[in-house]
Amino acid sequence: MAALDLHKHNDAILTQLKDSRLFRQLAYVNGKWVAGQSDIAVTNPADDEVLGYITSLEKSQIDNAIDAADTAFRHWKTLSADHRAAGLMLWHDKIKENREDLARLMVLEQGKTLDEARGEIDYGASFIRWFAEEARRAYGETIPSHIPNAQLGTIREPIGVAALITPWNFPSAMITRKAAAALAIGCTVIVKPAGETPFSALALAELAERAGIPAGVFNVVTGDAPMISATLSCSDKVKALSFTGSTRVGKLLLRQSADTVKKCSMELGGNAPFIVLPDMDTTEAAKAAVDAKFQTSGQDCLAANRIFVPRDKHDAFADAFATEMLKLRVGNGLDADTDIGPLINAQAVNKARKIVEDALEKGAKLLAGSPQPVSDGNFFYPVLLSNITPDMMVYREENFCPVAGIVPYDTIPEVITAANDTEYGLAAYVYGHDIRQIWTLMRGLEFGMVSINSVKMTGHPIPFGGMKQSGLGREGSRHGFDEYSEIKYYCLGGLNIASGN
Ligand code: NAP
Repeated sequence: MAALDLHKHNDAILTQLKDSRLFRQLAYVNGKWVAGQSDIAVTNPADDEVLGYITSLEKSQIDNAIDAADTAFRHWKTLSADHRAAGLMLWHDKIKENREDLARLMVLEQGKTLDEARGEIDYGASFIRWFAEEARRAYGETIPSHIPNAQLGTIREPIGVAALITPWNFPSAMITRKAAAALAIGCTVIVKPAGETPFSALALAELAERAGIPAGVFNVVTGDAPMISATLSCSDKVKALSFTGSTRVGKLLLRQSADTVKKCSMELGGNAPFIVLPDMDTTEAAKAAVDAKFQTSGQDCLAANRIFVPRDKHDAFADAFATEMLKLRVGNGLDADTDIGPLINAQAVNKARKIVEDALEKGAKLLAGSPQPVSDGNFFYPVLLSNITPDMMVYREENFCPVAGIVPYDTIPEVITAANDTEYGLAAYVYGHDIRQIWTLMRGLEFGMVSINSVKMTGHPIPFGGMKQSGLGREGSRHGFDEYSEIKYYCLGGLNIASGN
């Protein structure tokens, strides 16, 4: 067995990996694996067993990481787009080669099913390929001149060191979706992964090193979140901050970043409406709604949070939904027949329980599932509620658990108003056929992404992001570079051009 960074770890994790070197426990700074002064345990949500330990870096070590990324930026940005793209493609290939190990590592620390984890590795890798290709097309523009004898135009320049702070529900893809855009355009990055899921991030660093990404270009720091985030967001050398996580922490980081007028992009929480139109087949809609609700055990910013159904279709829809929901098997993500893995921790289970209790106290009806979640560690069995009203947590808050709530409605204007009645604006789903109703909803919904007759909506070519308090900026697509680059305008005057622009 290859030597590991720290002597403390759970051997069980290594039995899951073909390549044990992908399990790293130290931080990765300036091309070196570095230790802090203390360790933090990381547990498996399926059994609460300790998987291993990450190192808790000191503030001075975060400052070192910033200095290293700043120094590396001076060289990385000067490389040709082809050169950076080649490095990224090697990283992409190594991720794909190690897909199974990376997926298993993710299941162990995050709890999602193996199929979901494999899907996330593919999804995450697709951003690296996309931005490696886009790097060659980061064009500027020529501007027809209004000034005599001048040439005007723009070029796109990398902004500098980017801090990337990411959540536990997508431990790999939320890093690559940011890092791929940043690295491709010429920035260097410092990743601060979630404390619950650091091993996926450290495995990405191991593979970046194997791909020959130069020292200081891709760094991963671990430890105390408030200290690390404050150090990154208050540093003058860090020019961009990209955060995916809760709206609460996002607001805190925006405030911290104000003093240095940092370019901030925020991928925050969601409260997605799933709207069934009057002409939609209820069984088909229910199947889609179950898919949209329970992926990643409901711990998904795109999860259908409030399911709006025409009043006269309510009962038929609820029956079909319950039938589909009760087919889902709850279990360890590594078991082949599992559909719903554990929630991330006991706190998440308590919140799920509170959401159900709050709804029942306020008059909701339990249509399927157990009102008292079976006390089975972090496993939470799906629940279906109806008679949901806006004063309930299940309606108002991002649920992040396998609890579904149905809200009946009467008219299209009413459902648009109800769907928009949230501070969030990430994603919305519409299922139906009448093109006028669909278009009315598409335009009326205050959400950054509207998915019509499809649960699958994300991917590398689309601009992922939210309106209102769901965030700022977009990830993926040709817009993804905007968060990591500046547009520089030039005016080249005194040219003595005889005619034209
Ligand atoms: P979170 O609690 O906001 O944590 C996200 C990151 O912020 C983690 O790295 C965390 O570090 C760090 N953090 C936590 N408290 C902090 C503090 N006081 N100061 C500075 N940093 C702090 O979110 P989460 O629970 O991991 O993730 C779930 C949320 O992410 C949901 O709201 C979900 O909707 C959102 N999300 C959004 C998208 C999107 O694309 N819009 C995608 C996925 C998830 P530690 O873990 O070390 O505490």
